[in-house]
Amino acid sequence: MKELRGWERMIGTQTVWGGEEEYLLQGSTQVPVVHSVSFGYKDIDEWHEVALGKREGHIYGRNTNPTVHVFEEKVRLLEKAEAATSFATGMAAISGTLFTLLSPGDRVVSIKDTYGGTHQIFREFLPRFHIDVKLTETHDHEALEEEIAKGCQVLYLETPTNPTLKVLDIARLSRAAKKVGATVVVDNTFATPINQHPLGLGADLVIHSATKFLGGHADALGGVVCGSEELVKKIYHYREINGATLDPMAAYLLLRGMKTLHLRIRQQNQSALRIAHILSQHPLIDAVYYPGLPDHPHHDIAVKQMSGFGGVMSFALKGGITAIRRFLPQLTHAHCAANLGAVETVAGPPRTTSHVECTEEERREMGIPEGLIRYSVGIEETEDLLQDLTQALELTGDVCS
Ligand SMILES: *Cc1c(COP(=O)(O)O)cnc(C)c1O
Repeated sequence: MKELRGWERMIGTQTVWGGEEEYLLQGSTQVPVVHSVSFGYKDIDEWHEVALGKREGHIYGRNTNPTVHVFEEKVRLLEKAEAATSFATGMAAISGTLFTLLSPGDRVVSIKDTYGGTHQIFREFLPRFHIDVKLTETHDHEALEEEIAKGCQVLYLETPTNPTLKVLDIARLSRAAKKVGATVVVDNTFATPINQHPLGLGADLVIHSATKFLGGHADALGGVVCGSEELVKKIYHYREINGATLDPMAAYLLLRGMKTLHLRIRQQNQSALRIAHILSQHPLIDAVYYPGLPDHPHHDIAVKQMSGFGGVMSFALKGGITAIRRFLPQLTHAHCAANLGAVETVAGPPRTTSHVECTEEERREMGIPEGLIRYSVGIEETEDLLQDLTQALELTGDVCS
């Protein structure tokens, strides 16, 4: 693991304090949840200036809100961006960004292994607007560079990918995109700003499903996009009209969760690495997908661009879907659910969670075995999780042949 750079040393302080100083109403030490739909003015000239964006303030809740603003500020600081804007969900952030950047006749290059919902935007929705979508094999950097060189307006990346944890070289692909003037968008949900900093590697925009690690407690949905003032302004403008606004209560829950982001991620990095090592040697496990393992095909890229390998791994049981049916209900320290990045460990097969929208054929094309389990490590004691996995595997042994 590399030494901590300056911004990484600071990040644990920013998760706690970032964006929060301004709003300490009547001495309250916590960000107030402002549920007001509109914001009143007695002075119509002041009102006018705020409405025109010439003076700070809020007008109407679909546009801006003080609690939501603090959330955007905190993520903006963590991603070292000029600007940030938030959305009701991660998918709203992703679709809002793509619909802002792309017009009919444009071309977008991406990978086959994006998040299921994102994949659906590429396959179903963008083509309806006559946007040409080219999805390459995820591991194939040469193919990506070739497609980028043919010209495109947007290069859309996700790394590590969901659910097989492939890793893409953000710096290398951003260089290729710059040559053709394309905007580089990176979904940083799996890595978090603690482990990976796409803007520093050459990306133009970084997106999070805040529902996952940023919030960390599986109790609020949200999304956020960070980047230059110029790009984020355009995306914000689409959002304020499209209306997929983050709710103030959700913003508050996400903010509270983010105060412990650095502690959670450090623990999850450590736990996941140890669990991945041990599972990879287990006789009933066919394969473990985790970028922290030295035999992971993109381990060298992960070491270069990440300061931790994250809390999510996948593993395939010998015995496929039959083994999974037996194994999952035996886990006592895991929610079997369609989520990740929470303080509790969460496990589930991609065929019923992240990639349920895809057909079996599509999943096979994406290299997702039907018997795969995605395992998002929580903040429980590592030894308890290991014991839990081991006992569940023991009870599955007879169908793992
Ligand atoms: C969950 C997820 C999304 C979508 O986020 P929602 O908040 O559920 O809309 C996008 N990208 C990745 C990598 C995700 O894991």
